[in-house]
Amino acid sequence: MLGLMMDQQLLISSIADHAARYHGDTEIVSLNSDGSQFRYDYSGAHGNMLKLAGALEKLGLEKTDRVATLAWNNHRHFEIYFAVSGNGQICHTLNPRLFPEQLIYIINHAEDKALFFDQTFLPLVEGLRKHLGTIKHFVLMEDHDSELAKTHPWLSFYGDLLADSDENYSWPDNIDERDACSLCYTSGTTGNPKGVLFSHRSTLIHAMMSATPDVMNFSARDCLLPVVPMFHVNAWGTPYAAPMVGAKLVLPGPGLDGESLTKLFLAEGVTISAGVPTIWGGLLDYLDANNIKLPDMKRTVVGGSACPPSMLDRFRDDYDIEVLHAWGMTELSPLGTVNNIKNKHLKMPEDELRQLRTLQGRPPFGVELGIFDDEAKQLPNDGKSQGDLYCRGPWVMSEYFGGEGGDPLVDGWFPTGDVATLDEDGFMCIRDRSKDIIKSGGEWISSVELENLAMGHPDIGDAAVIAASHKKWSERPLLIVVPKDGIQIDEKVLLEYYQGKVAKWWIPDAVIVTKEIPRNATGKIRKNVLREEYGNSLR
Ligand code: ADP
Repeated sequence: MLGLMMDQQLLISSIADHAARYHGDTEIVSLNSDGSQFRYDYSGAHGNMLKLAGALEKLGLEKTDRVATLAWNNHRHFEIYFAVSGNGQICHTLNPRLFPEQLIYIINHAEDKALFFDQTFLPLVEGLRKHLGTIKHFVLMEDHDSELAKTHPWLSFYGDLLADSDENYSWPDNIDERDACSLCYTSGTTGNPKGVLFSHRSTLIHAMMSATPDVMNFSARDCLLPVVPMFHVNAWGTPYAAPMVGAKLVLPGPGLDGESLTKLFLAEGVTISAGVPTIWGGLLDYLDANNIKLPDMKRTVVGGSACPPSMLDRFRDDYDIEVLHAWGMTELSPLGTVNNIKNKHLKMPEDELRQLRTLQGRPPFGVELGIFDDEAKQLPNDGKSQGDLYCRGPWVMSEYFGGEGGDPLVDGWFPTGDVATLDEDGFMCIRDRSKDIIKSGGEWISSVELENLAMGHPDIGDAAVIAASHKKWSERPLLIVVPKDGIQIDEKVLLEYYQGKVAKWWIPDAVIVTKEIPRNATGKIRKNVLREEYGNSLR
């Protein structure tokens, strides 16, 4: 017997409709690429979303056509998210930090039909254009510019699309919640990037759960500033969760340095934010140097790479800001775990609690995690057994776009490529990417833990630990550091810092001082590059 409830589809457009209906006057603040500010509200955004959806139809775009974006976090990007998906097309966000060859590969692989981009990326698009055979419409996300229109006859202007569109356009009614709504390629340290294709249903369930108190905890009383780019796994779903709960939204544009962010945080009364550790390092240094506090800011989600415990302490002790350490990946929409404690932890001694808060956290309803050994046998959730982390749930990918890479699942689980431990409460600790873990004499050493410790050293600005080949032990840890400005590193003194903090045999064999740690387009350390350069330096 079926339940007798209304069979309403979970659609991206319904989030925009809800926000306009009940949070119409809640503000959206956006910084344009030229630094100028734009302000309106959910009602204004909704009007533009419908106009843009109408314009997409006029351009001849059909259901499931991919519409790409190369854009910062700004109000037009936000409108595109909803107009494209709401209209049945697929919003394909491109990471501008990728190499041009990777962008060309991704756009052609996705067979994108239109490309919307910010003024910043005009030179990039000019260079790419002749390689992009499937794109019929190049839309500059600006008002009409007659000079540019003359010199670039192939350009369309966002402002023109809205102006020429039908005021009374309404969302099409042929969309099923299981239809695709957005597409994101993983940066792929090896091999070609692969596409993860999200559905309306997965996106909505993910956004609903992400807003709950034990996950990211968003409400209509919050002012949310997503630092994580909208081209990085849909800014972790925040552009959907904010209008869903009616939070004020601040979109920071391209300026993600400490000073620009601080100004916005203070001026707009930002209460919650989200981003990768490298961005927060820059913000904290700026706040320290200028003796500024952020009185409205209550918490920030930190993920994408391990958040060094020293960063958690700085946020909490110096600024009274709670860090929600989170783990996820593109294939998980991206939310996998967030660190929020339980009732039974409230009476925990301070030092134990601090230790618990450094972990990647526990899965919300909707994510199931398991630790598996090399034979794909599940290991106990005892907080000690270390193995391959697998997961499953309604917002976990089942296969890559276009069937690339074949069937990625193992007995219905998605293998994440991370090595972790899991305790009986679901608290998970990432030990490493499986390809980065250091195997010394048959034992495993976590490069993440050694990096976290190095980042807590007052003289170190950035750090990476890699497995270097070793005659006797097969691999040994090698510490690569970028000292803070003007500081000379003494290798022996630095390595002594590890004494008592980790087992003796974990202490790196040597230190290499360098000017910069190479990172990929999503801010992760490019360990393959470091291994190529320094992997044989212990031989
Ligand atoms: P890509 O796969 O494109 O590099 P993702 O954002 O999907 O980008 O990366 C996911 C990976 O990032 C995870 O599998 C994990 O290794 C790493 N990661 C994400 N968050 C954390 C975290 N809090 N601690 C440690 N590693 C993390």
